[in-house]
Amino acid sequence: MVDMDKIVSLCKRRGFIFQSSEIYGGLGSAWDYGPLGVELKNNVKRLWWRDNVYLRDDMVGLDSAITMHPKVWEASGHLASFADPFTGCTACGRHYRADHLAEAIWSSKWFESLKRRLANEDNAALALQKWAAGDGKKLAPNLALVQRPEVILSLWKDKRSGYRFMQSEFGELLDGIASAPDGTPHNPCPNCGGQMSEPQPASLMLETFLGPVQETATKTYLRPETAQGIFVNFDNVLQASRKKLPFGIAQIGKSFRNEITPGNFTFRTREFEQMEIEFFCMPGTDEEWHQRWVDERFAWYEKYGIQKENIRLREHEKDELAFYAKRCVDVEYLFPMGWSELEGIANRTDYDLKQHSHFSGRALEYFDEDSKQKLIPYVIEPSAGADRSTLSFLVDAYREEEVRGEKRVVLNFHPELAPVKIAVLPLLKKNERIVETARKLTAELRKRWYTVYDDTASIGRLYRRQDEVGTPFCVTVDVQTVGDEKAPADEKVTIRDRNTMQQVRVALSSVEIVIAKLMDGHWDEIYRDSDWAG
Ligand code: ATP
Repeated sequence: MVDMDKIVSLCKRRGFIFQSSEIYGGLGSAWDYGPLGVELKNNVKRLWWRDNVYLRDDMVGLDSAITMHPKVWEASGHLASFADPFTGCTACGRHYRADHLAEAIWSSKWFESLKRRLANEDNAALALQKWAAGDGKKLAPNLALVQRPEVILSLWKDKRSGYRFMQSEFGELLDGIASAPDGTPHNPCPNCGGQMSEPQPASLMLETFLGPVQETATKTYLRPETAQGIFVNFDNVLQASRKKLPFGIAQIGKSFRNEITPGNFTFRTREFEQMEIEFFCMPGTDEEWHQRWVDERFAWYEKYGIQKENIRLREHEKDELAFYAKRCVDVEYLFPMGWSELEGIANRTDYDLKQHSHFSGRALEYFDEDSKQKLIPYVIEPSAGADRSTLSFLVDAYREEEVRGEKRVVLNFHPELAPVKIAVLPLLKKNERIVETARKLTAELRKRWYTVYDDTASIGRLYRRQDEVGTPFCVTVDVQTVGDEKAPADEKVTIRDRNTMQQVRVALSSVEIVIAKLMDGHWDEIYRDSDWAG
């Protein structure tokens, strides 16, 4: 698995993703999509929309506003309970999500170094003593063990020699090395080892004021999910589209959460884009629909190239479920930092429609023609992140290979996801006829696919550049294409496949048909069939 630093650096170098406001020192919780990144993310969103809206009879789209009536958030329960517990370091001031603290300590620089020291030393007390006097001073200067080694180590003197630290003893070890002067153990800070405060809830809602004067303006919130815009428009969409149950409403848009610990590149940010569906169905059919959506959404990631071994489903435990949810299943991806949520698919019952009916006084019901009765539909919600999906497609596509003794970096994107579909490369940029033919071909192909023209380096280099950004096909125009004094023009070009690096010679007049077939994954067929050479 590629590490995140490599992805971050490739993204910056090749114009996929930049740190937000970088020239001012950067904003840790926001990222900007560059020329190739915007193409990739747009492709993710376009495919999601195509597959979930256009290819189905039972779905329609919506684009609701980011700012909504403040009552929406009262009704949805976000104002009362959309909060994560957080804890802060009393020494360095860093904040962490309380439920992520153990993980952060475990993978912190200082704990990694302490683990290595314990593994290399037979005597645990001696190992701790040496570490406290050496690396501990640099990496965790505020840890009790580092500040008061004699007191802390007195607790360890009875540990038998030959002690090997095991993960199951994590809590015990922390209690032993991080405690107040009176001996009360506390959580150590992943950054400096200092004492962490008692956890308290922090609202994730980002406040804003609508109107020119803050005191009299309406206080509202930047939406933390797109879903509520769908619920409040349920009746509008129902009346306008005349849909019958079951049917769904899809929406893609920005959401905002004041996350305590944004990080892991674009995985967790304070501003992000969601791709959400609220699928309304008859009560009693909800469990079946839920399972269907779980299967469909899982298959969607595989369809666009996510490798089987890097994706899994995780059923929520009963105690994890929101109180209104009947069942929830996460699609998880094996990111460089470990298995993490890509999408959540929840059975939200009739909770949201009931809440909005109650708070707004407007009945959000459905009239069932068969039973001639009004009912409140149940809702299945597949909720995905556009940024997280984009990141997973990037990570999953990354390959390093050795080709004739040289390293080749390839982004093995599905052709529909690839930011640039075709690169037209003139073999000799000084040959006017080659340039003219290549330019003309580029202009033709651009009508259908995002095509670039590049003549700024040698052909080998140009191929590597395109491989690194995942362009599936390169088309080369050479002397044979246009002819010279030695031989007449053959009016054929070379198409090169990114993954296999195989090449086929194709008549100029067939390029468009051939590329269309290649986009559908028919390289082998084209490679075997010489007819395309005209
Ligand atoms: P987490 O447990 O990671 O905070 P969540 O369970 O709160 O996520 P949901 O409320 O289910 O997330 O949101 C649906 C989807 O929106 C997530 O699966 C994820 O893809 C995306 N998402 C949520 N929060 C963020 C964020 N802070 N940054 C980027 N994407 C996010």
